Amino acid sequence: MADPQGFLKHTRELPGKRAVEERLADWQELYVPMAEEKTIQQAARCMDCGVPFCHSGCPLGNIIPEFNDAVYEEDWQLAWQILSETNNFPEFTGRICPAPCETACVLGINQPPVAIEHIEKSIAEEAYRRGYARPNPPSSRTGKKVAVIGSGPAGLAAAAQLNKAGHTVTVYERNTRIGGLLRYGIPDFKLEKNVIDRRLALMEAEGIRFEVNANVGANVDAKQLVRESDAVVLAGGSTVPRDIPSKGRDLAGIHFAMDFLEQNNKRVAGDDQSNVPEIHAKGKNVVVIGGGDTGADCVGTSNRHGAKTVTQIEIMEMPPMERDPFTWPNWPLILRTSTSHEEGCEREFAVLTEEFLGDENGHLRAIRVVNIRWGRDQTGRNTFVKIEGSEREIPCELLLIAAGFMHPQHEGLLTELGVGLDNYRNVAASPEHNYQTSVPKVFAAGDMRRGQSLVVWAIAEGRECARSVDAYLMGGVSSLESRDVG
Ligand code: FAD
Repeated sequence: MADPQGFLKHTRELPGKRAVEERLADWQELYVPMAEEKTIQQAARCMDCGVPFCHSGCPLGNIIPEFNDAVYEEDWQLAWQILSETNNFPEFTGRICPAPCETACVLGINQPPVAIEHIEKSIAEEAYRRGYARPNPPSSRTGKKVAVIGSGPAGLAAAAQLNKAGHTVTVYERNTRIGGLLRYGIPDFKLEKNVIDRRLALMEAEGIRFEVNANVGANVDAKQLVRESDAVVLAGGSTVPRDIPSKGRDLAGIHFAMDFLEQNNKRVAGDDQSNVPEIHAKGKNVVVIGGGDTGADCVGTSNRHGAKTVTQIEIMEMPPMERDPFTWPNWPLILRTSTSHEEGCEREFAVLTEEFLGDENGHLRAIRVVNIRWGRDQTGRNTFVKIEGSEREIPCELLLIAAGFMHPQHEGLLTELGVGLDNYRNVAASPEHNYQTSVPKVFAAGDMRRGQSLVVWAIAEGRECARSVDAYLMGGVSSLESRDVG
């Protein structure tokens, strides 16, 4: 390491954020750029720890100490090269990853960990600014045709890797633009869409074809696509939302989070939304059920709409991480504080929704909730009891259900192909079976296979799946890198 004592000289520092009132007035990203020399100081905090657990903490196996070192040496091109070897899209993960690498950072045992996510974003931004991020098409083509179904991070990573191996790749997307949840789930204040577009321009220049409005299993014949391809990757995501089937569920004013977020992202992008009934939070008391990323994005979006109040309720207890963000090892990264919570939001944990209450016009006016206490029953299973006397109503005219996703949509693509499912009703295609589904030459990756997860896992699965597809097409041996976390 260039400065083995850097962690003794510099404390952890992250980029500043725009003032809350300023950022609530637009949809732009909320972080302000950090001076280059400050980012270099942050890279200097990476110590010569001997066993870099960050490396294995990252699902992609990012070689973090090496790129930190390159940043410290101000060699941004080398840093970009090292990072791009393991991560196809550091400009996405550098913005929205919950950074399990930081949780695994050895420095984190007795100091705040190295600001790895910020350094990763800085490397990507410098690479685009300095022109190191360039199309890198394969030198020759294999003549094999691969169809990737779904254009979220899993499909895009699989496409990038398979194209790199020389196969001819077409990505089919049923929505009007490419990007999956990066485009239509995650709001611009976390990930501006020009960040996706500039990557797509590189991928197109490398030879990848994109077809939008192509719903495979509906307006594109799935069996024919399989017949005409040498291999197919299913990367359709986990799209069936978990409902809250409490009494009053059919009242007007209750929506799934993705219906709210997707139309808002489209509106921000200037897409025509006239055929979709508008869901807007302006002047309303909003309740968001669900404490994860989707819920937090509903909070940030509602506040930008001008909601009167925003309350986010979660059935689970407050994780210890919320009290001490750098506990090590850490609580699962599903419930976490996001920048949206700083913008105005009541947050309540261990709260059960009992009933949705309507007015005389059949519109939601409040929800009835009760506090609960978690414990274990005699068999050791998690269970809860209601806390007597804690029942209450929360006024609410707009309720957004962000309670997670159960599994991929089965009708259409999956039923037409007759793909086998696992016990969670996701596509069965385990890493042990090389991401192969029950249907010959059809593979699967990302949330469609592993269930709802994270962008970093989607990219990791897309890469690993592509490697299996490449080996399948090339007689058992792949030219693509494998995740090696040593
Ligand atoms: P998706 O991103 O879901 O993409 C699947 C794509 O396939 C979609 O575009 C869909 O339209 C398309 N498709 C489906 N079926 C067909 C078909 N038959 N034909 C053609 N196309 C089809 N993770 C993080 O790490 N950080 C975050 O901050 C974060 N925030 C999130 C916020 C929200 C609101 C949500 C919902 C999720 C968030 N996640 C976050 C999770 C993350 O977005 C997902 O884990 C990830 O996008 C999964 O990638 P994927 O490629 O498997 O699927």
